[in-house]
Amino acid sequence: MTSVWDEIDEWGPEKVLQVYDPDTGMKGVLVIDNTSKGPGKGGIRFAPSVTPLEVFRLARTMTWKCAAAGLPFGGAKGGIIADPNKVDRASWMKSFAKMIKPYCPSQYIAATDVGTTELDMAIFAHEIGDMRACTGKPSELGGIPHELGTTGYGVSVALQRSLDILKDLKIMQIPQKSQTRVVIQGFGNVGSFAARFLDQSGINVIGVSDVSGFIYNKGENGLNIPKLMKDMKGKAKLSDLKDYGYDIRDKDEIFEIDLDIFIPAAMGGVINNKTAPKLLGNGVKMVVEAANNPTTDDACEYLYKNNIWIVPDFLANAGGVIGSFVEYQGRTEKEAFDLIEYKITKNIKEVLTEAIMKEENPRKIATELSKQIVYRAMLLRKGAISVAREAYDRKDRISL
Ligand code: GLU
Repeated sequence: MTSVWDEIDEWGPEKVLQVYDPDTGMKGVLVIDNTSKGPGKGGIRFAPSVTPLEVFRLARTMTWKCAAAGLPFGGAKGGIIADPNKVDRASWMKSFAKMIKPYCPSQYIAATDVGTTELDMAIFAHEIGDMRACTGKPSELGGIPHELGTTGYGVSVALQRSLDILKDLKIMQIPQKSQTRVVIQGFGNVGSFAARFLDQSGINVIGVSDVSGFIYNKGENGLNIPKLMKDMKGKAKLSDLKDYGYDIRDKDEIFEIDLDIFIPAAMGGVINNKTAPKLLGNGVKMVVEAANNPTTDDACEYLYKNNIWIVPDFLANAGGVIGSFVEYQGRTEKEAFDLIEYKITKNIKEVLTEAIMKEENPRKIATELSKQIVYRAMLLRKGAISVAREAYDRKDRISL
């Protein structure tokens, strides 16, 4: 089995910490991947499936994400291994904070991720005794909670800008915005807001799924997203809507319907050798990665070779961490949304245009761009100023 040791390379990870508290039973992981640009930034995932390897991969995604977004942060990630609803989450959160306190916030600044909420961030910050130990805090603590939909907003911006570019360059023939059929896998904090913002922009969301099921409407107007969001208030999962007149299908039926754009907004690895051919067969033209690491390397190459555009996770879902940065600076919610729109628009334009010109996979182009930024920061940290200056002045990309 692969371990984190098999994955180390010239970028990191700098620290891999496994923690266990015999008093509470809490088991957790902290991976600080690369801090050349600043303290490692990344959320705390609270799920039974968390492993050190997964946390490392998520931390690496954060390294590229923060670099691409031009933020003064490195990449890191935390993980707590349990179903948060089956343990005493507050005491586990406190226990995790206590264990990693020496690194917060100098080397690690936490945030929410799958399984954690703004309330967990409040507990975490208080336990560390420093409000700068994490972002995504409740507004009462000066936070800009990710529950405002910052990540989902960024996903909707990424999708629309990509559509604009591919349409302008006559690469993608999607007739009308309102005829674009979008399907979203995952209806949590990211997927539900992506649906809402896309719907508000006149884009047709025809299907959404979560762990409990799948609902769709292939009719002209797709799903009624405002109604769905209203009906979902106070409910945990889509199958709780059984008595509200929705036809709840098996969650895997999401890979059986015709669509234009697929948004994975749940867990990693869901677009793989089995599901990628299905999406292709159903007419998918673009994938916008709202989740972290949702597409396996093989599936990414397969889809790209078949002319499917994949907007990489660390560009598309950067809204959360951009909002985190604005919170960190003590600025407002409105400024967070403005900066998300500005940065994601800029990145999507730059990466897609270059990918089209060079006939390369956008993920490859975006990763190179991030590597170039982190490489320069690493040279500066080492004190190799003249090499860094040279690298800075050079127009072409640095290959590492
Ligand atoms: N969990 C979010 C992500 O994966 C936000 C991380 C952060 O703000 O630090 O991007």
